[in-house]
Amino acid sequence: IFGKKMHRRYTTVQEAFSDMTEVVRESFAGIRIVKAFNREDQETCRLSDASKQYVRQNLKLVKITGAFFPIMVLCTNVSIAIVLVYGGRLTILSGITPGDFVAFINYLNLLAWPMMAMGWVANLIQRGAASLDRINAILTIKPVIADNPQSYDADPIEGKINFENVSFAYGANQSPALCDITMTATPGTITGIVGPQGSGKTTLLQLVPRLHDVSKGRITLDGKDVRDIRLSHLRKHIRYVSQEPFLFSGTLGDNITFGKTTEFRHLETVLKAAALYETIQSFPEGLKTIVGEKGVVLSGGQKQRVILARALLDDAPILLLDDPIGQVDTQTASEIIHAIRNISKDKTVIIVSHRLAAVQFADRILALDQGRISESGTHKELIERNQYYARTFQLQRFENEQ
Ligand code: ADP
Ligand code: MG
Repeated sequence: IFGKKMHRRYTTVQEAFSDMTEVVRESFAGIRIVKAFNREDQETCRLSDASKQYVRQNLKLVKITGAFFPIMVLCTNVSIAIVLVYGGRLTILSGITPGDFVAFINYLNLLAWPMMAMGWVANLIQRGAASLDRINAILTIKPVIADNPQSYDADPIEGKINFENVSFAYGANQSPALCDITMTATPGTITGIVGPQGSGKTTLLQLVPRLHDVSKGRITLDGKDVRDIRLSHLRKHIRYVSQEPFLFSGTLGDNITFGKTTEFRHLETVLKAAALYETIQSFPEGLKTIVGEKGVVLSGGQKQRVILARALLDDAPILLLDDPIGQVDTQTASEIIHAIRNISKDKTVIIVSHRLAAVQFADRILALDQGRISESGTHKELIERNQYYARTFQLQRFENEQ
């Protein structure tokens, strides 16, 4: 009975503890926002609530563990009392000899401590088991997107990507983020994807390296369903630049090479292509500059260029760029676009951007609207159609001239 109760309460105590540390982690990570919005008091309250919850759960646990030992001692002593009274009576009434009686009491004393120790061990085991359950809850999760037994390495990968009536929804009861997408991107061409926010551009890109799996239809790479190609093999041939740049703690150089050894000459070319060369030279420590929480905090645009350089470093045949110029100024943007065009001669490139300047040179442009392709064609064709693309283009040109 005690074991079960303790297990349950240890679990809630540990949950309360992790909630509390999460509140601390979050408010440290967002410290600037907290300060900028004068949210110090609310954050303190939040932490105070979480701490109180932790204390409350601990008190509940203590009620059990606190009662456990006294009850055990009580049981032992009650049993001794029973032996004294009942055994004593038997001895007096000559049922057993005094020797038997003394021996019995001694046995009982010998047993009492090991029994209590077992209780103590049971307590420890419950605490450990509660922790283990929480760890196992994570360790036993099977990735939804994984290799199947028939997965193979499809060599060589040229890079022809085909979407065949692809639909995708993030959850079973969510409306689809992508609906009936059919498109082709071939090596040596650049495909541009434009569309308002939330139209499914990022989702579309993420389907190619299987960060999600399609709900309907299929995506093929050189005619083979991507779900049949071994995951690591598939991803080795795709370089994906995410919309939200993420840097790991460490040096700038480590973040760009990402564990690869490259010649310095090559690295230099890549840095120039990503319009990062001069920025890095302006840091006293150059590529050895520590970035992240313990070092220089890069601007959004700088981060974006770092992850672009990371993607350009290896010669993968497929390049997926999610808004690579979203956070850089117009001048840098045109340098980056120029570099991407140079680098991507025989690659399959898909560029997502809400700035049409980034895609207007593309061989083919798709406009997405609420997960569907609303327009497609070259820049010229789309301008002639005079729909979303043409309207946005006029607007952005107007903005640039301002
Ligand atoms: P875009 O990149 O064009 O701005 P996204 O592909 O990011 O659009 O999002 C398309 C739609 O899918 C949006 O409605 C968005 O709310 C939804 N969405 C995006 N990511 C997720 C997610 N991880 N879980 C649930 N819904 C998501
Ligand atoms: Mg997006």
